[in-house]
Amino acid sequence: MHVIVKTNQQENAVPTQAAPEGDDDPFDPGSGRPQSPAQSASKRSGRIVRFPTHRAGILNPAVRSFRKKHFPGITTKLWNDWQWQTSHRIRSLNQLEKMIVLSDVERAAFKQSGTTLPLGITPYYMSLVSPDNPDQPIRRTVIPTIHETVHTTGEADDPLGEDAMSPVPGLVHRYPDRVLLLLSDFCSTYCRYCTRSRVVGHGAIHPSRNRLERAFAYIEQTPSVRDVLISGGDPLMLGEEKLSWVLSRLRQIPHVEIVRIGTKVPAVLPQRITARLVRMLRQYHPLWMSLHFTHPDECTPEASRACAMLADAGIPLGSQTVLLKGVNDNLETMRELVHKLLKMRVRPYYLYQCDPITGSAHFRTPVETGLSIIRGLRGFTSGYALPTYVIDAPGGGGKIPLMPDYVVGREDDALILRNYENKHYRYPEPCNR
Ligand code: SF4
Repeated sequence: MHVIVKTNQQENAVPTQAAPEGDDDPFDPGSGRPQSPAQSASKRSGRIVRFPTHRAGILNPAVRSFRKKHFPGITTKLWNDWQWQTSHRIRSLNQLEKMIVLSDVERAAFKQSGTTLPLGITPYYMSLVSPDNPDQPIRRTVIPTIHETVHTTGEADDPLGEDAMSPVPGLVHRYPDRVLLLLSDFCSTYCRYCTRSRVVGHGAIHPSRNRLERAFAYIEQTPSVRDVLISGGDPLMLGEEKLSWVLSRLRQIPHVEIVRIGTKVPAVLPQRITARLVRMLRQYHPLWMSLHFTHPDECTPEASRACAMLADAGIPLGSQTVLLKGVNDNLETMRELVHKLLKMRVRPYYLYQCDPITGSAHFRTPVETGLSIIRGLRGFTSGYALPTYVIDAPGGGGKIPLMPDYVVGREDDALILRNYENKHYRYPEPCNR
């Protein structure tokens, strides 16, 4: 019973090369995006106007000036190419030092051997990182600090007990009707609070046909599994061909009703969401996606465009957000994030209490912080904007929802309830209950 599959895979290799993407135009009329009146008119007259990807430009001024400063010779077309972004990730202290002024605690992280998660940041995401403020939320999530080497009581490398619930390498079966399939351990950008930092980025999980066929065989032989969540690592870092093969294999299993993909790509590498990718994905409905947004600063025009393409392909989008100290642990930030997500057609789905992974104390907040954020959102904003706050129980107990206490008590046959304004109300229960 284990998850880790040792291979010789190099951490910095893209798991599977995708086919050339010459026609991957986010504004391709075939992408299903709404078109401008000029485009519609051209189409009516039989002439289709195409805007090549690089003409779409770089939408965010901060991103544009970063590229100009650190990648001056790079064309917009290359910048918008996800494979260029992947192969030019910032992966060393030397590269980092040229882009940001490191604080002492950041620099010290590189002098210790205890930091387990590698460094990896796409140039796009790096452009959102403050060059001079080590407390900037986005910077805290991707730049290592010496705090990662501090191990406190109750922390563990595998706090959710996934390794013990893996009947087949890379397949976690925790709940009765669903499984988690880890495709690879590769991400374009590594989050310092990653729950799977014990395996992610270490070349431990490889999307080999052999291993995956064993996982498919297990699912085939387990009729109770109706929902498969594909995660990793980031599944969207695989090329279309490989991903399409995985999805088609799952679709051949009659009792698999839905497939979900967990990904942070729209936030850290929105260039990966291409017309080619969404055309492939839409063949495998019902397909859902759990995105991973952490802070409102990630909701850029680029991310918004990526989400629009996925939503236009009919993929319901939800966001899983980890509650992180100094990143999003206050009501204002969380309110801004959930509002921006809804505008990007992404439903805030879960707010996770940060898992007690080894070296995570500097990211973890008291549970009361999360409850007070939920209290500040419920009733004060749309219900759709409200994520479910959960703790993934250490040891593999599954997600446990945490709610502020809205049931005050009982009086005779009435339930006493507290509303969002802290006013009390009586609800008469049915007499014959
Ligand atoms: S994208 Fe997900 S799997 Fe990858 S490092 Fe971040 S949290 Fe971990």
